[in-house]
Order: sequence, then structure tokens, then C-alpha cells
Amino acid sequence: MPAGDSFFIATPIFYVNDVPHIGHAYTEVAADVLARWHRQRGDDTWLLTGTDEHGQKILRTATSHDVTPQAWADKLVTESWKPLLETVDISNDDFIRTTDERHEKGVQRFLQKLHDDGYIYQGEFEGFYCVGCEEYKQPGDLVDGTGAFEGEQVCAIHSKPVELLKESNYFFRMSDFEQRLLDLYESQPDFVQPENVRNEIVQFVKQGLRDLSISRQTFDWGVKVPWDEEHVVYVWFDALLNYVTAIGYGVDDEQFDRRWPAVQLVGKDIARFHAVIWPAMLMAAGLPVPKAVFGHGWLLVGGEKMSKSKLTGIAPQQITDVFGADAFRYYFMRAITFGQDGNFSWEDISARYQAELANGFGNLASRVIAMITRYFDGTVPVAGELTSADLAVRETELRVTAAADAAMDRFAINEALSSIWELVDVLNGYITEQEPWALAKKDDQRERLATVLATALRGLGTLTVLLSPFMPTATRTLWEAIGQGELTSQPVDRAAEWSSAPTVQPLAAGLFPRIEQPEPAA
Ligand SMILES: [Zn+2]
Repeated sequence: MPAGDSFFIATPIFYVNDVPHIGHAYTEVAADVLARWHRQRGDDTWLLTGTDEHGQKILRTATSHDVTPQAWADKLVTESWKPLLETVDISNDDFIRTTDERHEKGVQRFLQKLHDDGYIYQGEFEGFYCVGCEEYKQPGDLVDGTGAFEGEQVCAIHSKPVELLKESNYFFRMSDFEQRLLDLYESQPDFVQPENVRNEIVQFVKQGLRDLSISRQTFDWGVKVPWDEEHVVYVWFDALLNYVTAIGYGVDDEQFDRRWPAVQLVGKDIARFHAVIWPAMLMAAGLPVPKAVFGHGWLLVGGEKMSKSKLTGIAPQQITDVFGADAFRYYFMRAITFGQDGNFSWEDISARYQAELANGFGNLASRVIAMITRYFDGTVPVAGELTSADLAVRETELRVTAAADAAMDRFAINEALSSIWELVDVLNGYITEQEPWALAKKDDQRERLATVLATALRGLGTLTVLLSPFMPTATRTLWEAIGQGELTSQPVDRAAEWSSAPTVQPLAAGLFPRIEQPEPAA
């Protein structure tokens, strides 16, 4: 077990009925890059993801397909969600399903505790329910319908009519936690990030919190309320608990104490669930709240949000089929300021692939290895006396390593990549200025040639270590050509300390091959 600090990072669990789109892959990649970075820094890291499988909508879809809801969920997990993780190379340590026995038992244990401690009561509830959202709607959440729904009030997200429901439900005394939540946001200003999401959450809670209906009686696809089996637990209450049931809440205290609390990445549209309801639930159970809830922005395609209800989604595989998983990961982490909305376009990914990956990083790697192969028969040259130009490269390696590490601690993933890219640019500039091919023509410049190529190779190795959390495949290939030991064992916060193999191996192909047809045929 790594001796470092605990770093537990969780993504929201996928709602199985969704169609996987690049928005899902984006959250996963961000969490994965952070997890790989921390793992490679020696932190005791745990990356959790999984699937949300209960609720009325899943029951209805399963029924319409003439299968049980469990069989329906199994099929979607196998055919859609686990393959998505492979498509973008996610290194999750666990995958929890809300139909896992460990989860269902954990939900019941948690709920029973809240019930025993007086945080749950029974009451009548009447309200407008959107099955699409699996949520009761406030009048302000509804808009006038159009088309077939003209004259009706519809859900603003789904554009479909809501249902007026009246039920005897169990309620969670969320209103008790209003002041404690406001105190939390005040005393721990980085609990909700970034700033705009934090402000929205604080405003929301300041308007007053109502108790939360946490059970449903009209259908049975869910976790049964332990003291009243006529009721199933509200899907959001059930789903949020995955973050603690996965790490042994109530059954494995050692694992739980070692991991909890988590850093949680969510899309900003579900920040309220994670930054209001979830910490209130934890407070009621006497558990620590998450270390941080980071609400990232939306991906826009042609200015429109990638959403589950408007099927404008692009499947991640459409992109990885053309550019590969590494380029997918690089592009979305680099081109979009983490925390803000960002626009995806085929032109942009294509341009960055060519300029930054193929010409910038890939070409640098090929050139350095090819010159060492050609001028020194592949034996790694030993540097002689260093000039200020050589020392400047060395200084850049140390500076960008520290800057990237600090940026990753702030979830500023795109800033970490821009810092690392300074080293790509510095190394390319260094080679252009030092002209090793010209030095190679002069017998009396042999030592200088050795110094230049040794310096360039050192920088290239540092880059390989720094980029491995972002582009695990390309960096592994490059490491096999130049490095010694396991790439993922190289401490990323001391990237410049890597050791080269005695000889370099030629790269069989470019790290980022030329793309002939950037946009798949429609
Ligand atoms: Zn809705």
C-alpha cells in the first residue's frame, strides 16, 4: 500500500438509461488524469465510478423492452458503460452498481441510522414530478409546453409534461441543516468549486431548504426502506450513497477510514445534489463531508449543450476511432478550462492533434531518438560542460514540474498541461538553435553534440513522466524506447529525476500518426 496521503476521487455514477456521450467521457477522463497524477506522486489513490440503476424510468424502459429491470441494467452496463471506460482508458479501482448487494445493504444501514436518530419522518407529499429528472419540480422549474404539449406545463429540461403525484412518503429533515451547510460553505470556501458554482449553491441554500421526500410507494424498483418494505428509496438518495457504500460504510471501517472523505467531480447541473443534499445526509449520519465538490462545465457542440435529453451527443468512440484515446484525453483536458463550459469541434481537435501532438511532442521524440541512434549508435551520450542554454532546459524541467503539480492540486488540469507544454516548446526551440545535425558534421564538436543530445533526451524523459497521466499509451511506448523501470513508478512531482536506459530504441512508428480523414463520413 502506498505510504502517501489518501486521495479518493469519485465521478458521478452513470445513469444506465443514458446514451454514452462525450460529456460522460469528459468527467471520467478528468477524474482519471487526477487519479493517475496522484498515484504517480505516491498518494494512496482510489478512483471510483459506477452505475445508477434504480428508479421508475428504468423500470418503464425495461418493461417496454419486455425484460426485468435487472436484466435491462445488466445489458446496459455490459454493452455501454464498461466499454466507455475502456474507450478512453480509465484506470478506475472500483466500479459500483447501485444494484450490488454491498450497496443496497449499505443504503439500508445508512437510512436505518438516520431513522433511529430522528432525521426521518412520514408525511404527505403532493407535487409535480418529472420522471425524466426523477425529481419533484418547483413551479419555477416548469415552462409552457409547445407542439404536442401546447397548453400544458412541462419540465424545462425534458420539455415533457410533469405528473401531479400525491403520496405518503418518508422525509429527510434537510431543513435542519440549512445553517450548518451555510457555515460549511463559509468556513471551507473551497468545499464547492469553482467560484461560480459555489455562489449558486450558497444562493440556493440561503433561500431556505425544505425537507426532502426520500421514498416512493408507487413502484418497487429500488432499495426497500428497511422498516417499511412498501416503500423504495428515492433514486437520488440511493445513488448518492454509492460514494460511501463502495468503500465499506458500516462493514469495513478500516477501508472506510482510510479512504473517506472523497474529492468529487460532477457536472455543474448536478452540483446541488452533491453540494447540498449529500453533505446534509452525511452530517445527519455523523460522517465527514467530502473534501471538495468540483462542478465542471458543459461541453458544447456547435454552441449546444451535450445533453441526455436532446440527443445531440457524440459517442466518444467516434473521436477515438479517428484520433485515439490519448489524443481524446489530451484534447479535452487541454482545450477546455476545467470548470468552464467548452466547445468541441472536429476542426479544433484536428488542428491541435497536428500542431501539438504530431508536430510538437511526437516529432520532438522521434527526432531526439533518431539523432542518438544515428550519431551515437543508440548509446545515450554523456553530457560535457553545460552552457547557459543547456542549464535553461534543466531549469524549465524543474519549473514546469512544480507548476504542473501545483495546478493539479487546484484542479486546474488545463493549466498543468500548458505548463508542461512550455517544456515541449523549449526543447523544440533548443534543438533548432543548437543544430545538432550541424555539430555532427564537425569532428571537433563531438563533445558538444553529446551534451546537446543528452540534454534533449533528459528533457524528453521528463516530459514522458509528466505526460503519462494524460496520455498513458503514447508515453508508455516512448518510455520503452528511452527509460528504465516502470513509467508509472516514476514520481511525477520529481519527474526530472528519471533514469534513462543505457541505449535508446528506435520508435517503430510516430507516436501520433498522420490523420488523413479527420471527420468521419456522415
Ligand atoms: Zn425533467
